[in-house]
Amino acid sequence: IRHRPRSEQLYEEAQRHIVGGVNSPSRSFKAVGGGAPVFMARGQGAYFWDVDGNRYIDYLAAYGPIILGHAHPHVTEAICKAAADGTLYGTPTAHENVFASMLKEAIPSLDKVRFVNSGTEAVMTTIRVARAYTGRDKIIKFAGCYHGHSDLVLVAAGSGPSTLGIPDSAGIPVSIAHEVITVPFNDLAALELALDRWGSETAAVMVEPIVGNFGMVMPEPGFLEGLCRMARAHGALVIYDEVITGFRFHFGAAQTFAGGGFPDFAAIEPDLTALGKIIGGGLPIGAYGGRRDIMERVAPLGPAYQAGTMAGNPASIRAGIACLKTLRQPGVYAKLDALASRLEAGLAEGARRHGVPLTINRIGGALSTHFCDHPIRSYEDAQRADGDRFARFFRLMLEQGICLAPSKYEAWFLTIAHTEADVDETIAAADRAFAAMAQA
Ligand code: PMP
Repeated sequence: IRHRPRSEQLYEEAQRHIVGGVNSPSRSFKAVGGGAPVFMARGQGAYFWDVDGNRYIDYLAAYGPIILGHAHPHVTEAICKAAADGTLYGTPTAHENVFASMLKEAIPSLDKVRFVNSGTEAVMTTIRVARAYTGRDKIIKFAGCYHGHSDLVLVAAGSGPSTLGIPDSAGIPVSIAHEVITVPFNDLAALELALDRWGSETAAVMVEPIVGNFGMVMPEPGFLEGLCRMARAHGALVIYDEVITGFRFHFGAAQTFAGGGFPDFAAIEPDLTALGKIIGGGLPIGAYGGRRDIMERVAPLGPAYQAGTMAGNPASIRAGIACLKTLRQPGVYAKLDALASRLEAGLAEGARRHGVPLTINRIGGALSTHFCDHPIRSYEDAQRADGDRFARFFRLMLEQGICLAPSKYEAWFLTIAHTEADVDETIAAADRAFAAMAQA
């Protein structure tokens, strides 16, 4: 058992100054039985240490960006150099050109890009640009897909809000919610109905091409292809939110996946794409881009306004370049896949041995664990998974020094810093957790 008196003390203090004691609600332990979240002091590779000196194997990976592990030397060096050169100029830099062309090379649908500061900003702006381009107001999205906390997409929005049991958010005008139509993921018939009714008013269909916000969920064969065909038949744009999926599974995005039994991906290209997380190497970043004629509607070329004092800041850009250069090395994604595969097999075996129902979805180095015996293909499936069991598992793992996201919807992320020994330690901890759960 790990004692965390200092975390508890810091949480007391944090609650006096910071709303809820956390700067993002997903960091709260509200969904896993409450109490003080763990205050981390330092991260190195696959581990981090809390303020009480306890070590954890990290599968949170900061909700995705830390794919190289903590304090990777290439990223640290890039950040140090950027700091020494001055952190912000408010002018263009050569680094932005280098980074933009790296992204374009990896994701060819990005004729033109813009750098912003978060995934939220990237998505929010793709919607504005789609509206400016089409002259329409409505957006169709999929239940449980989270696209950041901007008004329009915080309707039926997956992991964050659902974890807290808030379907939407207060403070969003009803008039705005009326501009959003939500349909179930992997359900082309529902999409068709929505487009038949609202297609002529729809600016864009927004989707996580591989869902990361209610588990790791693949589109069924034909789903993305059908989505694109139907959206275009109604004159609506297709926006892929690749904030989680960008550079997650290979050097590119979900949209550049070829083969692997998912011909959809290579066959179609979205009109606009939003990126974030991994591309900043752990510093704040977002990017959006797509077809030239659409992107040229953005100021200063066009009437759709988007700006940012911090946008394209040299530290984030240089950290991002270092991160992507490291990810481009041969063998990186094969290693993530092999580690996650080992983890998946061990978890599945342990759960089976102790008779704990567990559905694991794994795609490359990311996997999700739902306590249920049905497959997870939609948000509804994920909502039906047992949250109390997850909470118990989360606590049992944390006590053994394994850190997961405190939400039954979130994925586990492997990093290139994890070793087989780390994975085996995790499997052994999970085995003890399953045994305790089976006894209860
Ligand atoms: N889109 C997706 C698919 C995400 O998972 C997230 C964050 N979890 C966002 C957008 C928002 O990104 P950010 O938190 O950087 O604003």
